[in-house]
Amino acid sequence: MTQPLIYDLSLDELTATLRGWGEPAYRARQAWEWLYQHKVDDFAVMLNLPQALRERLAAEFRLHGLALEAEQRSSDGQTVKRLWRLPDGQMIESVLMAYDDERRTACISTQAGCAMGCVFCATGQMGFARHLTAGEIVIQAVQFARLLEAEGERLSNVVLMGMGEPLHNYEASLAAIRRLNDERGLAIGQRHITLSTVGLVPQLRRFADEGLQVGLAISLHAATDEERNKLLPVNRRWPLAALLDAARYYVERVGRRITFEWALIAGENDTVTQAETLGRLLSGLKCHVNLIPLNPTGGYAGKPSDPARVEAFQAVLRAYHVGSTVRVRRGIDIQAGCGQLKAEVAARRRGARAERAGGDS
Ligand code: SAH
Ligand code: SF4
Repeated sequence: MTQPLIYDLSLDELTATLRGWGEPAYRARQAWEWLYQHKVDDFAVMLNLPQALRERLAAEFRLHGLALEAEQRSSDGQTVKRLWRLPDGQMIESVLMAYDDERRTACISTQAGCAMGCVFCATGQMGFARHLTAGEIVIQAVQFARLLEAEGERLSNVVLMGMGEPLHNYEASLAAIRRLNDERGLAIGQRHITLSTVGLVPQLRRFADEGLQVGLAISLHAATDEERNKLLPVNRRWPLAALLDAARYYVERVGRRITFEWALIAGENDTVTQAETLGRLLSGLKCHVNLIPLNPTGGYAGKPSDPARVEAFQAVLRAYHVGSTVRVRRGIDIQAGCGQLKAEVAARRRGARAERAGGDS
């Protein structure tokens, strides 16, 4: 049986465990510092702990929850994408992005696969495998922080925008956010953490009530229920009116501007009419729209909008006084779109298997 992952424990839980072993409370704090501040990858180097305790920790807990399956760096060196294998064979992705202004942002996954089935999304096309634990979410950021610190840099931002729907895995995502933010954890400011959701309305309202200052991104992609139902099946359960109410509630409670994500799909949701409907929908709301030309995926025939369409769309939003930015998905050359590296590696393997099978016959 695999031992429990030590990163799945909160500091209180670790303290209680060590107390049960007859250790004073400060031992748990010392171990915690090795995990989150020094980010060591071996219990043996926790040198201020007695050797017997290090050995017991190593016997009872796992320090490693992720095995590196593939890593790609973009040609400009600014994006690192990692495909991780979990102990049960599931694969997840995380991406590190460097920006000129010293921001270093980790984009991390909250589930293996996703149950929401958005038609254009590589992760949605895989279906749902399982929720990640809080520890499995946090260590993706710990891994990148370690990489950066070895180069004299620091992880400054985290976005829960990788594979999976964070609000579908509510408890673990929230525990991970608290741990990322904790002074004794990774100490990343709440305002430097962003959660992206497809719009699970009850959970979104609950999240607004947590008393956090975390940034919120909502994957909107369509401004009418008819169009959104086609792209995001979750809209049939929680239509736009309910989602926008919850968004307004978030702004009211948290006081921060919301980001709406909009993947521009040629001839689908990039028309002037859709832009006008969006402008009316968002007018007066404290928000910003990120326009992202669609990243093509294997399971969806849609294409990205051409630059002229993108510009026309943006001009309409401007007329409605809705701010927007056109974003190019980072690391397109390394399959850094959500779920795409896993899809690519899986396809390569299928190809290799087919070749082997072909050779046998
Ligand atoms: N489940 C959450 C977070 C992960 S998806 C959510 O949906 O918000 C992260 C973002 O990538 C979302 O805005 C999603 O809509 C977008 N996305 C997924 N597939 C895409 C694609 N092929 N092209 C452009 N954006 C995509
Ligand atoms: Fe899931 Fe987000 Fe992809 Fe939709 S876009 S399938 S919610 S990961």
